Amino acid sequence: MAKLPTDLAAELAKIGEAFAQRTRDELRELARLANALEGEADIRPSLETLHQCLHRIAGSGGSFGFETLSEAARALEIEANQWLSQATLTIDRAQRRRFAAGVAVLSDHLQLREAPPTQALMQAPRAKTTVSGSSGKIAIWLVEDEIPLGEHLVHLLGQFGYEPHLYTRFDALAATFQDGCPDCLVMDLHLTEEELGAVEALMTGASFQALHCPVILVSAKGDFSTRMRAARLGVDGFMLKPLDIPRLVDRIERILEERHAAPYRVLIVDDDRDLAEHLRLVLGADGMDVEVLNKPEQVIEAVGSFHPELVLMDMHMPEYSGPELATVIRHHDDLLGLPIVYLSAEQNRDKQLLAMRSGADDFLTKPISDTELVAAVRVRAARFRQLANLMTKDSLTGLLKHARIKESLVRELARAQRTERALSVAMLDIDHFKKVNDTYGHAIGDRVILALAHLLKQRLRKSDSIGRYGGEEFVVILPNSDLPMAQNVLEDIRARFEGLPFLHDGQEFHCTLSAGIASTREHPDADDGQLLIVADEALYAAKHGGRNQVRSIRSPEC
Ligand code: GH3
Ligand code: MG
Ligand code: MG
Repeated sequence: MAKLPTDLAAELAKIGEAFAQRTRDELRELARLANALEGEADIRPSLETLHQCLHRIAGSGGSFGFETLSEAARALEIEANQWLSQATLTIDRAQRRRFAAGVAVLSDHLQLREAPPTQALMQAPRAKTTVSGSSGKIAIWLVEDEIPLGEHLVHLLGQFGYEPHLYTRFDALAATFQDGCPDCLVMDLHLTEEELGAVEALMTGASFQALHCPVILVSAKGDFSTRMRAARLGVDGFMLKPLDIPRLVDRIERILEERHAAPYRVLIVDDDRDLAEHLRLVLGADGMDVEVLNKPEQVIEAVGSFHPELVLMDMHMPEYSGPELATVIRHHDDLLGLPIVYLSAEQNRDKQLLAMRSGADDFLTKPISDTELVAAVRVRAARFRQLANLMTKDSLTGLLKHARIKESLVRELARAQRTERALSVAMLDIDHFKKVNDTYGHAIGDRVILALAHLLKQRLRKSDSIGRYGGEEFVVILPNSDLPMAQNVLEDIRARFEGLPFLHDGQEFHCTLSAGIASTREHPDADDGQLLIVADEALYAAKHGGRNQVRSIRSPEC
């Protein structure tokens, strides 16, 4: 759960103060070291220490608001680095004195703290909960002044397992927003000047904006200027009448998926505790789930238990370097795809490229503003999640792919046997689907598949697994469900699906499905493969029994 912005500001300030305090002490020591350079015969050891410390300060100062300190330390770091690259150091006294003078005034910059660079993050946290419907259902508020149509829409949305609430007047709706907002607001409006003005007044108001309520506008007018006004209001969807319910549901599902997606998991590996803590707070404030690892030798355990979607790693740590740690991670086959991003003050492009050879994916250069950091991490973690989803989820429906649902069944069956609970498996297939494709086209066929997928997702429990087994064939796994329970659920899904209107060229049509169920109580010795065969046989019986029905095979002999 993201912290409140005021707490965040206070915590960031505290860490910034700790950084300033520690750096003040460190700078005192560095000034002494730099001063002594003048009289030293072999200055290389001291210069190396100075270089390392200046490098760290140059990298992290900016994150705490000490921009000018960062810049000044960076200039001195570059100079020290140039000297160190000489085979024999030939630095005269004047140069040493000038360098020492530069180090001595670094602490002055600690007075020059800039406004917190986290301003952009100080808004309300991104992750937001709504006043959802009762028993955790998704609440949809609908504004529709044609009462019979409104009631019909409420009925259909209810079929998908949502909790819809009908408002017949826009002004009645506007008054309710003090108490919170639904998971999605769907408004069918005439979009007259007057009505658009009222919508604009509501949506641009501070209290409405703070709610981040997703809005879908439904309109009879689809001209460019109406669409543009809707876009400028920041609505999340714009749909034309007559309203295509499966399309509306698809839009709602996409919005909710984006908003309720699990937070990105980021592992920070950095020995600099203040900086790591700062990063944790900044990324956490954006809604990410962040773990900090100060002990790099535990990196494999941390990755194994936390399952990060991105590792943000320091390049220079006292005992192990970033590239060494990246190599250790990449030695694990199952971690080959995990994004590793260095966050380092190293600005030398050649060194960056060299470091990336060990298997890291990218390089973020310190100093980096908090806003930039959040954006960079978010984009990379999102890409990783997308790729991971591509491997496991079907691209049309977002359901588990064939192989994955079979893996789920092996897992769930083992669990059911351990806990001695019943488990049911159902196979569903859309009836005469070929005809749907032939009559209305493949794209409409896809929409029917998608509508069934949404219906399954909404109607089934979180603990159930749903997979797209083949083209228009689905498998659902229902743990803790015996045959009668599974029959009830599947019969309910069958009936809801039958009632769904699909639109093609303004014409309504309906589809049906057949389902077959197999349960462990009736087939105690069946393994996962045998259960699927039994479910398939039951589906076959449903098809031959006339379709649009749910069947089961009670015992192996039947
Ligand atoms: P039955 O009632 O016996 O199940 O008849 P059916 O026509 O549904 O079954 P059949 O297996 O003969 O046809 C399934 C059709 O589904 C054939 C295939 O072109 C179509 N299909 C498979 N995958 C997709 C898809 O992703 N999108 C669309 N639109 N059609 C698909
Ligand atoms: Mg079929
Ligand atoms: Mg089929």
